[in-house]
Amino acid sequence: MQGFKRTVTCGLVNESFLNKTVNLSGWVNRRRDHGNLIFIDLRDRSGLVQLVFNSDFSSQAHKAAHNLRSEDVISIEGLVVERSAGTVNADIPTGKIEVQVKQFEVLNKVTKNLPFTLEEADKVEEELRLKYRYLDLRRESVRKKFELRNNIIFEMRNFLHNKGFYEVETPILTKNTREGAREFLVPSRIHPGSFYALPQSPQLYKQILMAGGFEKYFQIARCFRDEDLRADRQPEFTQLDMEMSFINETDIQSIIENLLSHVFEKIFNKPLNLPLARMQYKQAFDEFGVDKPDLRFGLKIQDFSGVFEKTEIKFLRSVLDQDGKIGGIVVREKIFTRSELDALVESALTFGAKGLLWIRFNDEGKPESPIAKFLPDNFFDQLKSFVPDIQKTNTLFLIAGQYDEAWPLLGRLRLKLGSDLKLINKDELNFLWVTDFPMFEYDKQEKRWSATHHPFTSPQDGWENLPIGEFKARAYDIVLNGVELGGGSIRIYKKEVQEKIFEILGIDLATAQKEFGFLLEAQELGFPPHGGIALGLDRFVMLLTGADSIREVIAFPKTARGYDPMMEAPTAVDEKKIRDYGLMFIPKKK
Ligand code: ASP
Repeated sequence: MQGFKRTVTCGLVNESFLNKTVNLSGWVNRRRDHGNLIFIDLRDRSGLVQLVFNSDFSSQAHKAAHNLRSEDVISIEGLVVERSAGTVNADIPTGKIEVQVKQFEVLNKVTKNLPFTLEEADKVEEELRLKYRYLDLRRESVRKKFELRNNIIFEMRNFLHNKGFYEVETPILTKNTREGAREFLVPSRIHPGSFYALPQSPQLYKQILMAGGFEKYFQIARCFRDEDLRADRQPEFTQLDMEMSFINETDIQSIIENLLSHVFEKIFNKPLNLPLARMQYKQAFDEFGVDKPDLRFGLKIQDFSGVFEKTEIKFLRSVLDQDGKIGGIVVREKIFTRSELDALVESALTFGAKGLLWIRFNDEGKPESPIAKFLPDNFFDQLKSFVPDIQKTNTLFLIAGQYDEAWPLLGRLRLKLGSDLKLINKDELNFLWVTDFPMFEYDKQEKRWSATHHPFTSPQDGWENLPIGEFKARAYDIVLNGVELGGGSIRIYKKEVQEKIFEILGIDLATAQKEFGFLLEAQELGFPPHGGIALGLDRFVMLLTGADSIREVIAFPKTARGYDPMMEAPTAVDEKKIRDYGLMFIPKKK
C-alpha cells in the first residue's frame, strides 16, 4: 500500500472540508517544531496546506513527526479544522483551515543532505540546479512557467484544430537539408559510413505534405541545430511549425495574428489589437540597425553623412570617401556626464565598433566633443537643419563606417541606451511584422550569395529582371519586443525557379539533383502554391513568463556549453559501439 489513497490535493482544502476527514499526499515543505505542537506545510502540485500534529489528537503521529524533514514524501489522514483567529493566513487559499493529523506514513524519506533547499535554488550555480532539476522543478515559481507553457500549447492546438489544420509528426532521423544551420549527424549502423541528420526544422517535410494535398499542417516540432550556443539558443528547441496551400503572405500572417490573439485572450484575458504593425526590412535596418526592432522606445538611427559632407576630419573623410556613411542617434532624455560618455565609448568598442564619437552641446550650443575643435562654429545650426527639433542639451552619438557594418553597431548602441536610460516599458507587448527581406546576402569572405531565409523561399515578382542583390524575398518575420519570435515565407513551387535559386546559391544541377531530387521531382508532379511559418515556442514562453533565458522554460535544458548535467550527456561510448557503426574516433587536434 502506498499510503492513504488521496482524496483531495493540498491546495484545494478549504472551508468546505471543515470537520471532514481527508487523505493527502505530498512533500514536507517546512516543519516548525514547538515541542508539543508541530506544524508542517504539506506541498503538492496544487499548493500548500498546514498540517498540525499534537499528542492530544494522535500521540503516535505526533511523536513520529519530530523526525520529518523537508522534502520527505508523506501520506496522511487527518481532520480539517478551523484555524484559531490569530493564525489565519489570508495570503493562501488554504489559510483559514489546518489539518489535524490522525495518522501518516512516510512514502519516501530524504536520507541524504539536500544539495540545496528550494528557497536557495535561485542562488546556486546553474549546473548544480540542472543536475538536480527535479528539486528545482518542485518550486512554485518554476512550475508556474511550465503550467503556462502547457496552457499556451493547448490553446494553440485548440485554435489550429478548429481552423482545420492537421497535426502531423515528421521524422527526426532525416537528411542534411542546407537550410542554413549546422546539423547534428547520427551514424547509421545498418548503412556504415552513412549518416542521418537531425532536422533543423521540418521545412522540407511540411512542403512535401502540401504536395500530398494536406493543405493545412501544423506540428509542435522539435528542432536541432549544432550551433555555438547563446543565452537564447539551445541545441534542441521547439517550434510551432505550420504550412498552408493556396494562400499568400497575408493569409499566413492573419492566421498567426488570430492565433496569438486567441492565446492572449484565453490565457491573459487580453486579446491583441489586430492587425499587428508592419515594417519593411529596409526601414527596420535604416532606423533601428536590425531586422527585429524593439519599438517600445524611440532613439531612431539617422544618417548624418550630409552634415559632414565637407568635413576635413580625417577618419570621417576617409569613411565618406570610401562610400561609407556616418550614422547617429540623438539622445534627448539625458545629459551625460563625462564618465558616462567614456563608459559608452568602451561598450561600443566591445560591440566591435572601431570608435564611438559623441558630441554634447553646452547651453550656448557650443559642441563639447573629442573632435570639438575641428567642428565649424555654426555646427549646431548645421545640425538643426537635419534634425529640426534638436536641443542644446542633447547629445549626438556617431559611428562611421560601411552601412552594413556601422548600422548594426548603432542598433546595439540604441538597445544599450534604451535599457540604460530605462526607456523600455517592460509591461508592453510590442508585436511587429517585418516584411520584404532581401532574398540573398553576400558573404564577402566566402565570395558567394547565401539565402537570407532559406533556399526554398520564393522571390517576389519581377525578380527575373533584377540584379541578384536586389531580389526581394516573400518572407516575413514576427518580432515581439525586439526578439524574433518566428519567421516564414511563401515557397517556391516551380522546378525552374527552384533550380535558378539553387544556381545563384552555387548549388549546381547535379548537386541539386543529388540533395533535393525528391523536391524537384515533386515540383513536376503537381505541387500547389504554398507557404508557412514557424514560431519559436521556447522564446515565446520565455517572453510571456518574464524569464531571462529559454533554459528556464525548457524542462531539461542543456547548459550554455550544450551539456546535460543530470544525465551527464554527451558521454564517451565504448569502442565496441563505435566499431558497430563502422566508425573510428580521431581526437580533434588542439
Ligand atoms: N523552417 C523555417 C525555420 O525553422 C520556418 C519557415 O520557413 O516556415 O525557421
